[in-house]
Amino acid sequence: PKPDPGLLGRRRAAFTSAQESYYAEPPQVERGWREHLVDVRGRAYVDVVNNVTLLGHGHPRVAAAVARQWRLLNTNSRFHVAAVTELCERLAALAPDPLDTVLLVNSGSEAVDLALRLARAWTGREDVAALREAYHGWTVASDAVSTSALDNPHAAATRPPWVHLLDAPNAYRGRHRGPGSGAAYARDAVQVLDGLAAAGRPPGAFVCEPLLGNAGGLVLPEGYLPAVYDAVRRHGGLCVADEVQVGYGRTGRWFWAFEQHGVVPDVITVAKAMGDGHPLGAVLTRREVAEALAREGSFFSSAGGSTVSCVVGLTVLDVLEEERLQDAARDVGAHLRARLEDLARRHPLVGAVHGTGLYQGVELVRDRATLEPASEEAYAVCERLLELGVVCQPAGDRGNVLKAKPPLCLSRKSADAFVDRLDEVLREGW
Ligand code: PMP
Repeated sequence: PKPDPGLLGRRRAAFTSAQESYYAEPPQVERGWREHLVDVRGRAYVDVVNNVTLLGHGHPRVAAAVARQWRLLNTNSRFHVAAVTELCERLAALAPDPLDTVLLVNSGSEAVDLALRLARAWTGREDVAALREAYHGWTVASDAVSTSALDNPHAAATRPPWVHLLDAPNAYRGRHRGPGSGAAYARDAVQVLDGLAAAGRPPGAFVCEPLLGNAGGLVLPEGYLPAVYDAVRRHGGLCVADEVQVGYGRTGRWFWAFEQHGVVPDVITVAKAMGDGHPLGAVLTRREVAEALAREGSFFSSAGGSTVSCVVGLTVLDVLEEERLQDAARDVGAHLRARLEDLARRHPLVGAVHGTGLYQGVELVRDRATLEPASEEAYAVCERLLELGVVCQPAGDRGNVLKAKPPLCLSRKSADAFVDRLDEVLREGW
């Protein structure tokens, strides 16, 4: 088969300009297998970024589970089928005490939306605190707390008055720098939260990723999250950990990214990895918080928690446990990290390497003293990587961070292939 030259034009006609690809000429992909994508010419790419698959493209157990369950039955979660109860139980068992209740949805945006709705119902407050440079989704409420200039360029103009922003604790280029900057960022955040409380508007929720994904894989500096969680709770709010991108073993931990900060959130949102690309998401919280929904009505999602989705969700957890992919995330992640840091020592364009486990961000700068972001270069590097058989993507508020968030089955060989190609591209001179 050959690529259809007219198809890209038809795609552009069918899509809106708000839905652009990261590439000028995206390859027409047809198949996926483990950490590889294959285009219609039969050319394979290492998919370093992927977006949703955790286990790897085309996992045979997921494919078999979907096919089997689809033939058997697919219905909504109001029906009493074993899979929906089992999935809720499995997830609740993975959540720390006292989180024991699971609500199923279709996506990360819906999970964040529902988390904010729960916080409103539980606290009776509308106000929400969120970080700058964040992305949490596209629905009305999740979009309102999506502040990233890259993902949501009109965020500032469209932000509703119930959203209050805290600085992203960026230890590389923010107001406070270095690994010891957590306390200073927390002090700033607490000041904002205290100010809101004094003005009679204490936030009912604080939403934050425990590893700042779309901000470029930034690791929260030590001490930040516990101090901010304390302040939010002191004012009666709920702490929401958005684990849509970073949960499910990606950071090398079993199971959550927040574990590295020694905190327990009040609400956790998950999606993406949860269904390995099949639409599935969830909100985890305490029963009393979840029950607050009943005071304002009911909750039902036609396809959220469908039988097929739940069977996929159970299969993902089985495979994760059996293949111990969190160990792979830690080990291959450490190897990838060491190799990326070596690149940073040799190429001045690489200012820093962020992240943990199999979430790495390679931040490109024009000048290591001023940290001027190399955003155009990041896009150009991704285009060159594509030519060399690697799918990668710019991320971060300034679009200057190469995001490496591969499926957890990434082999060392593929990790090396990515770094070798990146090395080659960086040697071309920028
Ligand atoms: N939260 C985070 C942290 C995300 O990265 C995303 C998606 N990139 C979402 C929420 C929204 O998820 P979805 O695209 O499944 O609606």
